[in-house]
Amino acid sequence: MRYKQWLAAFIAMGLLASSSAAQAAKVVVDAGHGGYDPGAIGVYGLREKDVNLDIALKLQKILTEKGYDVVMTRDSDIYLSLKERVDIAGGQQADLFVSVHANSYGNPNTRGAMVLYYDDAYPQADYPASEAMKALTPESRELAQKVLDKFVQIVGVENRGLLPSSVYVVRMGSIPSILVETAFLSNPEDSALLADEEQRTLMAEGIAGGIEAYLPPGQAAALFPDLRGHWAQEAVERLGELGLVQGTGAGYEPDRAMTRAEWMALLERAFGFARDEAGCPEPSVSQAVYEDGVCEEPQNIADHAEAAPSAADAIPPAGAADYTDVSPDHWAFELLDQAARSGMLDGYEDGTLRPDQPVSRAEAASLFRRLALPEAEKQETAPAADMRQPFADVSADYWAAADIALLERAGWIDGVAPSRFAPDKPLTRAEAASLLDKFISRRASES
Ligand code: ZN
Repeated sequence: MRYKQWLAAFIAMGLLASSSAAQAAKVVVDAGHGGYDPGAIGVYGLREKDVNLDIALKLQKILTEKGYDVVMTRDSDIYLSLKERVDIAGGQQADLFVSVHANSYGNPNTRGAMVLYYDDAYPQADYPASEAMKALTPESRELAQKVLDKFVQIVGVENRGLLPSSVYVVRMGSIPSILVETAFLSNPEDSALLADEEQRTLMAEGIAGGIEAYLPPGQAAALFPDLRGHWAQEAVERLGELGLVQGTGAGYEPDRAMTRAEWMALLERAFGFARDEAGCPEPSVSQAVYEDGVCEEPQNIADHAEAAPSAADAIPPAGAADYTDVSPDHWAFELLDQAARSGMLDGYEDGTLRPDQPVSRAEAASLFRRLALPEAEKQETAPAADMRQPFADVSADYWAAADIALLERAGWIDGVAPSRFAPDKPLTRAEAASLLDKFISRRASES
């Protein structure tokens, strides 16, 4: 079974011992303006593009010393469009984006530091943000606040606060993004600070300190920024390290219901019921730790295809195209077709397969048991005599009662509350990851 490969990878990567994958956080540092675009010109003729670049290079050095991966949008006096800057960040799977600027204003008395970020509470109709940035509002705000706090504390300049903004570089990306306005070139005192090498070093230290407060260097969460602080963060990140879970454009979306197609895709990645023409599981990313690297004994699909319990009466195995609601254009068509043909995935009485319907907790448990515990193993694991149902809301004659009880006994699935399983409730993407992570973690610790 394919999960043996995952176990090997899980152990080889040290995921069992570490709560979170130790991987350097990656920061994109963007020095504003450059080339033929000088930015603001200061009271002493100081050019914003030069000040920005110097602070950005100092920030690069400090962050690198702290253990971050740093990507510079520019490290010399060249012009880059705003889109190029965001695209550089987008191609990097970075954790966050920090643009460094200096301010300018008509009133020369105006001074101090401020930090811009996109806030979906203040959208601007003419400048719509990317969906990812809308969803990342809380992360961008938190990053902005931490950087501003540290900056003001270390540099000692006036605090002009956070500024919700729709400037391109903070509204169009896909990771938490801020723009730091370090000081005002139009103010004599601020401009003197910006002209001072030591002050520019302090400014870089302030920005670096805020970044560190938001995201320590060893805690990359690049895969799924919307998981930070979520109860399932560690489970999802472990599975992400193994390549078993994938994010959506908006992150991982841990609290969204998992669809039947998504659940089958996750089970396929974990257990590999899809076959290539030779009957071998498709090659996986963990091949390097999969000793012989060749196809193991072909998995007997029939093991899994025992009379399938189902929410509806089982329909004889058919291809996905035999269901009324599965288009060959569906993103998971091939997968659904194999799952349906092998008898793994059942349709409903009305001839539908409902791939985009949330998978219920009972359906999820039943499908998981079929793949994780084929018949033979099920009998070893489960003395039928005391198959007492652990959940008060799952009766002994419920169609999925045996599967739910098995998973609970193995310690792989929890109720939604003590003695309550909520079998008809949709399985969230966080719960899905937790189930698979518990399965792999326990198997890895036993082996
Ligand atoms: Zn600027």
